[in-house]
Amino acid sequence: MSVLTETLADLASNALLRNTRVTKVVRLTPEFVQIELQAEAFRGATWVPGAKLQMRPRRGTLLFRTYTPTRWDPDGGATELIVFTHGEGPAADWFRQVTVDDVCEVFGPRKSIELSRLSDHVVFVGDESSVGLACALRTVTSQVSYVFEATEPEGLRKALSDLQFADGCAVVARTPERSELLEHARQAADTTADVFDLVVTGDAGTVHSLRRDSRRWSRPPRRMTGKAYWAPGRTGLD
Ligand SMILES: Cc1cc2nc3c(=O)[nH]c(=O)nc-3n(C[C@H](O)[C@H](O)[C@H](O)COP(=O)(O)OP(=O)(O)OC[C@H]3O[C@@H](n4cnc5c(N)ncnc54)[C@H](O)[C@@H]3O)c2cc1C
Repeated sequence: MSVLTETLADLASNALLRNTRVTKVVRLTPEFVQIELQAEAFRGATWVPGAKLQMRPRRGTLLFRTYTPTRWDPDGGATELIVFTHGEGPAADWFRQVTVDDVCEVFGPRKSIELSRLSDHVVFVGDESSVGLACALRTVTSQVSYVFEATEPEGLRKALSDLQFADGCAVVARTPERSELLEHARQAADTTADVFDLVVTGDAGTVHSLRRDSRRWSRPPRRMTGKAYWAPGRTGLD
């Protein structure tokens, strides 16, 4: 990228982005990092659980990557992210190296999935990228059956345990046909309240499979809300 393009990218971004300070970094596992961000501008911001925050992992570019605040402290001007550092993408690289006092440039929060509009009872299906959303959902309701898929289930179980998720979360290995995941989601639907909502995020293929499969459940959800957080071979989905 030329110096002129980098300068223009920085000028455009400076108008949009807020500088936040990293005030806490907890490495839950080698792949999962929990970070706290603070900014004066966060004090007045309105946060809707399920909202997204976009960050710029590289100065001089217009690349943005999207994350889900787990909570919002309007008095302290602070929020928190749980990041899965998969692969070699620019955001994964940034979060792998992040330390306290680093500056994180962000845009938002902005609406994404509105968790506060859900029924009291929820079946939640996600993967490693959905842990932040699962934490945000805890601020809304405790009547949730969590079903996760993961490339390395042990790592995800450890992160969930550190985040005080009950042992009852189902974590299954990611497979191309997703049969175990779909079976666990169906069982969760069969054993929850009559009226429940289904939330699905993570791999685009999983969101699609759940949408299709849940139409055939004997106890279908009142409403399904979902969003692809990433897709194989595609970058910065949003
Ligand atoms: C609304 C929204 C909220 C999100 N919230 C969170 C969150 O709270 N925490 C979180 O960790 N992620 C979250 N994500 C997902 C995150 O934005 C993506 O994983 C993002 O692509 C990571 O950027 P990157 O620069 O590391 O990789 P990219 O440059 O975007 O991608 C590099 C490669 O890695 C693959 N890839 C990207 N993400 C994953 C993954 N999770 N698993 C396996 N392969 C992957 C891509 O397909 C690509 O091949 C959210 C996404 C959206 C749209």
